[in-house]
Amino acid sequence: MTKRQQLTTAAGIPVPDNQNSLTAGERGPTLLQDHYLLEKLAHFNRERIPERVVHANAAGALGVFTVTNDITKYTKAKIFSEVGKKTEVLGRFSTVAGEKGSADTVRDVRGFALKFYTEEGNWDMVGNNTPVFFIRDAIKFPDFIQSQKRNPQTNMRSDTMQWDFWSHVPESLHQVTILFSDRGIPKGIPFMNGYGSHTYSFINAANDRFWVKFHFKTRQGIQCMTQEEGDRIAGLDPDYHARHLFEAIKGGDFPKWTLFVQIMPEAEAENYRWNPFDLTKVWPHADYPLIEVGVMEMNKNPENYFAQIEQAAFSPANVVPGISFSPCKMLQARIFAYADAHRYRLGANFERLPVNCPHAAKAANYQRDGQMRFDDNGGASPNYEPNSFGGPVENPAYKEPPLKISGDADHYEQKRGVDDDYIQPGDLFRLMPADEQQRLISNISGSLKKVPEEIQQRMVAHFRKADAAYGDGVAKAICLK
Ligand code: NDP
Repeated sequence: MTKRQQLTTAAGIPVPDNQNSLTAGERGPTLLQDHYLLEKLAHFNRERIPERVVHANAAGALGVFTVTNDITKYTKAKIFSEVGKKTEVLGRFSTVAGEKGSADTVRDVRGFALKFYTEEGNWDMVGNNTPVFFIRDAIKFPDFIQSQKRNPQTNMRSDTMQWDFWSHVPESLHQVTILFSDRGIPKGIPFMNGYGSHTYSFINAANDRFWVKFHFKTRQGIQCMTQEEGDRIAGLDPDYHARHLFEAIKGGDFPKWTLFVQIMPEAEAENYRWNPFDLTKVWPHADYPLIEVGVMEMNKNPENYFAQIEQAAFSPANVVPGISFSPCKMLQARIFAYADAHRYRLGANFERLPVNCPHAAKAANYQRDGQMRFDDNGGASPNYEPNSFGGPVENPAYKEPPLKISGDADHYEQKRGVDDDYIQPGDLFRLMPADEQQRLISNISGSLKKVPEEIQQRMVAHFRKADAAYGDGVAKAICLK
């Protein structure tokens, strides 16, 4: 038998007994002097960090991204610089509304968050398994999420709150249609697509800007669960998706996704029939076809879930030279909100945790101190800039081309025709085969039938505007006159 290490306190002091606390006599009370017992209980009390308000329940894996097609005419991002190039990647796949430890096989959007450790810093692609979202302006986000979480009085989730919000916000109809379609309950993490969802930008070596959408299409094929299957498995094995991903990777069955992009030249955004920065819309493939970029393979399980997945901090602000933002209002808010959430959850030095550190690139700046600064804190090097004593400096070569923005400051409601929020959900309904349309209607009615009639009426009016058969089908299923 190999010799085992001496057990110690956190300060490295040998522990003589890990089974029996220090007591006054065999039946006597425990002595306050047993500092090892105190430390053990006190640390245990502090094991939990604040749970993410959304995307708390997740599984994760590590892998590699390989370029298969040259897109250097659109972007100078080093990750895409040559065919065959490989970059390490971390993936975290989550449900949105459920708390940590809640059931995996529920009807929900899935988070699809990726951290690419590129040589010019980390690129985080913090997406979902849907190409659109429920709202297009972040000012609605806290209201939206609160309507999907727990009722303030009952502490239970509420169909009424969910449908009430959606019925007042018709821009949500597209995402609601995806959520209640077959894809609302994936069979497993490998069987769903991932989307960047927002419009981002690419910048090439000549400093031309293109608008871009990212699509990670599963190579395992889309596979979904029916509502009944999902409900049954949620009871039998709440960790079903996490277990399936872990076992697949452990067994050498590595899931893969092909990365495609849609590219829009900068000037075309002005006159495109949709607002290309509206997160509730897709760019139809016929207008902007998918261009293959590479393949992502998830091939390694984390050694430690807390260190590598719970402490992973993804932020849409993390873009690398050659990839950048767009005027999408939701993206602009997420650039702020994600890092802010991690500062609250993990502390000011969250980017220094091993899982969040860049790999080849090294962080070099004048940030110092803060809670839990556990490296050398910059040592004796200067902590201000400009200075006469050395340290990192900016490089104007990384400046982006100017982006023309103008307009009067105001609170604008997007109005581009009365049917603007209904065409794309209708298109989705019409492309579904008849049996999938029926399951969509049945999934919706299973939940919508529980809510007050006033809300049902508003929702059915929205479904009818998308497609008469959609609205009529739901009305019939919930017996609405
Ligand atoms: P296309 O016929 O070119 O593409 C239809 C897309 O719909 C395919 O990407 C398909 O994914 C996807 N799809 C099929 N069933 C579902 C579902 N239940 N939930 C979500 N996506 C589904 O059409 P368009 O590009 O003109 O778009 C038409 C509609 O398709 C859109 O209004 C939108 O709702 C939906 N869609 C469009 C996407 C886009 O980026 N253009 C992306 C995803 C959906 P797959 O090929 O993997 O089966």
